[in-house]
Amino acid sequence: MIPTSLSLSEKTSYYLTLEKKYGAHNYHPLPVVLQSGKGVFVWDVEDNRYYDFLSGYSAVNQGHCHPRIVNALIGQAQQLTLTSRAFHNNVLGKFEEYITQYFGYDKVLPMNTGVEAVETALKLCRRWGYQVKGVPENKAKIIVCANNFHGRTLSVISFSTDPDNTKQFGPYTPGFEIIPFNNLDALAEALKNEYVTGFLVEPIQGEAGVVIPDEGYLKQAKLLCEESHVLFIADEIQTGLCRTGRLLYCDYEAVRPDILLLGKALSGGMLPVSAVLADDGVMLTIQPGEHGSTYGGNPLACSVAIEALSVLKEENLAQNAETMGNLFRAELSKISSPHLQTIRGKGLLNAIVIRHPDKNAAWNLCLTLKEKGLLAKPTHGDKIRLSPPLVITEEQVLDAVDIIRESLVEAF
Ligand code: PLP
Repeated sequence: MIPTSLSLSEKTSYYLTLEKKYGAHNYHPLPVVLQSGKGVFVWDVEDNRYYDFLSGYSAVNQGHCHPRIVNALIGQAQQLTLTSRAFHNNVLGKFEEYITQYFGYDKVLPMNTGVEAVETALKLCRRWGYQVKGVPENKAKIIVCANNFHGRTLSVISFSTDPDNTKQFGPYTPGFEIIPFNNLDALAEALKNEYVTGFLVEPIQGEAGVVIPDEGYLKQAKLLCEESHVLFIADEIQTGLCRTGRLLYCDYEAVRPDILLLGKALSGGMLPVSAVLADDGVMLTIQPGEHGSTYGGNPLACSVAIEALSVLKEENLAQNAETMGNLFRAELSKISSPHLQTIRGKGLLNAIVIRHPDKNAAWNLCLTLKEKGLLAKPTHGDKIRLSPPLVITEEQVLDAVDIIRESLVEAF
């Protein structure tokens, strides 16, 4: 129990000490301890209010504690939460119908975390390669991109190019070929290998610092995959669900992935829910007992996901993300600071790159932003992702830009 005698300012250090003492040190969070959230705002244990410009790495697109999603969660939690897939439940089918019609696929395979969706796609892609494409057993290859981020399991880090993710975690899973992102020649070359079964790509590389490929890249990449009878797998776990101003980032180029991966905002931040969508020719290559998860497709997750998807549509969050994203970048570009090297983004998935000789400059800027009421986190040293919940209003965007402008002056 927290001692009742603690002053407000002592509370933060109390919780930081607890986490440091009893928790694994696998994260380096900003020193702020949050206790509540609503819409675009979160509050800490000292009752300070912040704009949340991380949105749980794009899991909270619908805003914190969206009342409709909370109600769906509570209502279902009072009825039935988990059956396992040993039995049927009366929500799974409804969710499966809803999400497949929403995205236009024959079938869905529900999982929990994003990386489980990725693992599922890799297994499906290999299975399809052996059963449908006729690749000899154990020869399947999947092409991936340098600087990718698809999660943290052993197989997924096996094709990471970031030493922080891989160092001293070997031996690694074989069967992946890494090519540069946004490079169609490299893709065409890699596709010459007849054992290639899939191309796994983030339509925008989020964790790498919001790296947007050239216009036409995704469209051409999909065509190249079709020509080589290779599955195009889009990891839209961060870019999907209205974040970039469209339901999916692939929609900008009218690309329909063979396998579509969703997660994060599929539950509006309530609990881990992910999904793999594909047509029968791919999905039905996996048979009963060959893949699954105790929690995948549980009724609580299914109810929450239906509501989370419905909120995205009914509140026109793709449109708001596009409009507010354009405004945000336009206002940011009016800031005159020698330290603001680059502003880039699509919809409300944005990043700035900080130019400063101090390698801790982006971290220090985030500390100043926090002092002024805006939370964001650096990635890869000099980049800061700026991705608020999609319910943000014009007035809030302008207010946030003021905070960023003042912080750029104060931090350095
Ligand atoms: N794929 C992408 C593109 C992601 O950004 C992430 C997480 O940031 C993942 C997969 C992994 O998701 P999770 O952390 O839920 O396993």
